[in-house]
Amino acid sequence: MPTVPTTVPTTCPMDCPDTCALEVRVEDGVVRSIGGAADHPTTGGFLCSKVSRFHRRLDHPDRLLHPMRRVGAKGEGRFERVSWDDAIAEITRRFLRVRQQWGGEAILPYHYGGSNGLLSEELVDDLYFARLGASRLAKTICAAPSGAVARGMYGKMPGVAHEDFPAARAIVIWGANPKASQIHLVPFLKRAREAGAFVAVVDPQRHFSAAEIDLHLPVRPGTDLPVALALIHRWHDDGRLDTAFLDAHADGLEPLLARAAEWTLDAAAAEAGVDAADLARLADVYADASPALIRTGWGLERNANGGQAMAAILAMPALLGKFGRRGGGYTMSNSGAASLDRRALLGDLGWTTRAVNMTELGAWLRPDGPPHRDAVPPIQALFVYNANPVATVPDQNAILAGLARDDLYTVVFEQVMTDTARWADLLLPATTFLEQREIQVSYGTYVVGGIRPAVARRGEARPNVEVFAALGRAMGFRDEPFRWSEDTAFHRVAAHLTYAGEPVDAERLAAGLWVRPDFPGETPVQLATVHPATADGKVHLTPPCLGGEPFRYRPVHGDRRFPLALVTPGSHRMISSTMGEYNSDPLTVTLHPDDAAARGIPGGAAVRVWNDQGEVECPARLSASVRAGVAMMPKGAWRRSSGNGSTSTALTPSHVNAVAGGACFNDARVEVERLDG
Ligand code: SF4
Repeated sequence: MPTVPTTVPTTCPMDCPDTCALEVRVEDGVVRSIGGAADHPTTGGFLCSKVSRFHRRLDHPDRLLHPMRRVGAKGEGRFERVSWDDAIAEITRRFLRVRQQWGGEAILPYHYGGSNGLLSEELVDDLYFARLGASRLAKTICAAPSGAVARGMYGKMPGVAHEDFPAARAIVIWGANPKASQIHLVPFLKRAREAGAFVAVVDPQRHFSAAEIDLHLPVRPGTDLPVALALIHRWHDDGRLDTAFLDAHADGLEPLLARAAEWTLDAAAAEAGVDAADLARLADVYADASPALIRTGWGLERNANGGQAMAAILAMPALLGKFGRRGGGYTMSNSGAASLDRRALLGDLGWTTRAVNMTELGAWLRPDGPPHRDAVPPIQALFVYNANPVATVPDQNAILAGLARDDLYTVVFEQVMTDTARWADLLLPATTFLEQREIQVSYGTYVVGGIRPAVARRGEARPNVEVFAALGRAMGFRDEPFRWSEDTAFHRVAAHLTYAGEPVDAERLAAGLWVRPDFPGETPVQLATVHPATADGKVHLTPPCLGGEPFRYRPVHGDRRFPLALVTPGSHRMISSTMGEYNSDPLTVTLHPDDAAARGIPGGAAVRVWNDQGEVECPARLSASVRAGVAMMPKGAWRRSSGNGSTSTALTPSHVNAVAGGACFNDARVEVERLDG
């Protein structure tokens, strides 16, 4: 008998700053629609087109429904169904064998925020791999340099909320595209501009029309540092620094000013390929405006100078005394407003094994050995979950060569058959957020959201907590979390979670609703209701993570054969590689019309984008939205979307940033030629 349609409240767990409140309309066990809650302070009744279609994943032909063992060649994609008991027993047997022969560090867990949430990652999974003595994973693919810098400078002080943008008189969006990856900020930006705010965007690509913003600075990728230093130099020369604030609240000024003195506006403009008059305009408008705020994205950290640039930019509100007023200061990741006491939950992990930088995965896996002389033992077993490294990690060809190794045992725990899942020896089916419990802390807005099942689990899919608990029991580990059910884990996590220092309302979270903090007030005012959480409460303008030569600029000199800088930003269609099975477009490379004309490439022509690391075949798009000298490909594309099975990560280097070992995607340099030419 048909059931009455119901609307289930829940929360989006995707790796997106907005953390929308969702309304899932369900009829006869089928999701009919996913909408945004109208009464939520930032969701405002609308969603992105990515998640509003997420129910297509539930019953998609690529959905993984049962544990499966490889029967074909590696990468061929042929599997046979096995039981969960057999799968758990096989992993246990194989991991024990690897540990006995090579030591626990030969086992590598590989994971990221494919489906974020406090239950799905760094909970029972961490306990399991810690007890195994597996290698630890350094999560560097995104936000490592910016996170280290923000922690070192401000102790991850919460930033300006979406709702307070309209109070600002000047807003600088630096290295971010809210239209693709933070769409719920866009209405607040619009409101700010209607209220008279000056809005500037610093990004190699134009995302906003001239009618939407006041200034676009299309800097060359990787040149944000000289631009920021030149602005600081000008403010210093003009006597604009807020010395009273700096004396009272900051240290580390001298190294920053010494480097800034090396950059005039003219020199920085020449290096960044922008107009010096535009830099002067930005310097003066930002300095004069109050409140003024800077929203940094993660695009500007993805190069060898990224950590240093982030520090120089985050210093600006302190240098000019922009704090203390609603709508003034900076915003980046605001996840520091919440705190989960993992030690109380899990006990002492005692996990001190070597750390493997995830950005260097290809080098660690490839058949000709790991990248570091002391990297013994080699990786012999890989357990991938919440991640799709074939599509998202630099040096795709090295990763594929590694996954093809006969002596590597690979487990992939996934929702759908991704480019990485295809290479598994054993596949485990994971639940989606529509079938499970979760708690999601927003890193952009000020909410913690509860996630509850909207429909029954498909096939034999299981949530992470249950699978890692079963693996731990099979291994004979006796820690209490290995006996948790999903419900137990949910309530334990909620009980150990605080938001702005206060306990969260577990009942609201269990009902799929959101909770807000009290700073006091639902949104913070920097240096008024929230303060630097550094050990001494000061702003450290030159944090130790910048190393021995803070703020030193190292230009990326490309090989002359590869004159185009490749940028690989997030797209409107996917979140990194998530949703590639139902929401991806054919891969394209976007070129400035002048660069295309110089190469005889008309719009739509099939091209080869290449460097010494790899090549990608796809059609060219021509658009003046990317600056000359830059080629743009979306990140996260699946291999089937390109002409030759390679995507942008085949071209991106795996060297890492000196600050926190972050990925340097935007240091890729390429050439493009017409395929039929
Ligand atoms: S991906 Fe972001 S914008 Fe889209 S529904 Fe989720 S939180 Fe909202």
